Amino acid sequence: MNFEDLKLIEPIYQAIKIKGYTQPTPIQEKSIPHVLAGKDVFGVAQTGTGKTAAFAIPMLQLIYNRKNIEKKLGIKALILAPTRELAIQIDESFKDYGKGLNIKHTVIFGGVSQGNQVNALQRGVDIVIATPGRLLDLMNQGYVKLNTVEFFVLDEVDRMLDMGFIKDIKRIITKLPLKKQTLFFSATVPIEIKAFADSLLTNPVQVQVAVMSAPAETVKQSVYYVEKSEKTAMLKELLESEKIQHALVFTRTKHGADKVVKSLKAIGISSEAIHGNKSQNARQRALSGFKDRTIRILVATDIASRGIDVDKLTHVINYELPEVPETYVHRIGRTGRAGEDGTAFSFCSSEELAYLKDINKLLKHNIKEMNLAPIATFASKGDGGKKSKSAGASSGRKFYRRR
Ligand code: AMP
Repeated sequence: MNFEDLKLIEPIYQAIKIKGYTQPTPIQEKSIPHVLAGKDVFGVAQTGTGKTAAFAIPMLQLIYNRKNIEKKLGIKALILAPTRELAIQIDESFKDYGKGLNIKHTVIFGGVSQGNQVNALQRGVDIVIATPGRLLDLMNQGYVKLNTVEFFVLDEVDRMLDMGFIKDIKRIITKLPLKKQTLFFSATVPIEIKAFADSLLTNPVQVQVAVMSAPAETVKQSVYYVEKSEKTAMLKELLESEKIQHALVFTRTKHGADKVVKSLKAIGISSEAIHGNKSQNARQRALSGFKDRTIRILVATDIASRGIDVDKLTHVINYELPEVPETYVHRIGRTGRAGEDGTAFSFCSSEELAYLKDINKLLKHNIKEMNLAPIATFASKGDGGKKSKSAGASSGRKFYRRR
């Protein structure tokens, strides 16, 4: 299917062209016609599948067409998202896809002063993208009226529930008109999510895209066997030897992320961590700095990184392998997007061999094993050139570390 087959209006079609998309993704192909037809949608999909465009594009088209006939005032669409990062990204998508439509949108989230957000609302907006807590706060102060909403989107519902937003969301829902089109997206569907969807949606079309198990073919992947104690040195070595200007580095823990940042900063490499213990402001600063390239290395945990989308990211480094193999696919899917080349390096210690095995199984091929050329130079630094084979004895693999 092509975008031409989706019967989009010309300005949206042009905006998609500018983004460089050549074909709709499966979730877009399956959702857009139903949303355009006015149906409720229950989408089972995660970040990285193109789900934002799957709801933003048809909503923009419907709002644009109706606006030309009805000229009604008030908020026409409300999108709820779990985090500030995701809300901002959705807002950016509306800006990109809505070029030339003259549809006003704004984003609302906590952790910053409310002044600018209130001003934007008072100027009048068609679309509000919000995190639940701040929205409710502004509603209680009388700055937001939702009685004109025609479209209601809940994005990453599983995560919103995880974060304890259910009460806030239910309160917000009581202020929405009964008659509206509702789009509901969740990556997983445990029983409480199914029940919540059932209570909210009317004759929904269920749209599901398979959990990604094949990363983009454009991502070159390789693995280095390196013990935990040597990973920082290996990372420094790799950043230099591969002339990596910009990389997203993954760790399994918040503490691990902080440690990596500390050691990179100590050798003058600009880096920041992004994880659940950081304030919204710190996370946003780190992400903006990384996007505008003033920060060279962003170190993230998996949860915090959900929703991070950086244009033209060339390198992902798995400082630690994830326990869940699908997570590996998500991580490396941050690079090699939209046909660009991407490279993913992974470090595997003897304790992580089982994770690697699971990842290789999911990929249905073995990630290319690197010989240790870069580390050979590093190993010769502090130890007179001695390399030790260590651990992994049972696997018969060589792990390098200094004595
Ligand atoms: P999402 O799942 O909405 O977070 O989108 C993931 C990424 O896919 C974003 O970087 C989008 O810009 C990109 N994207 C969305 N739709 C397409 C498409 N049809 N072709 C190529 N890239 C896309």
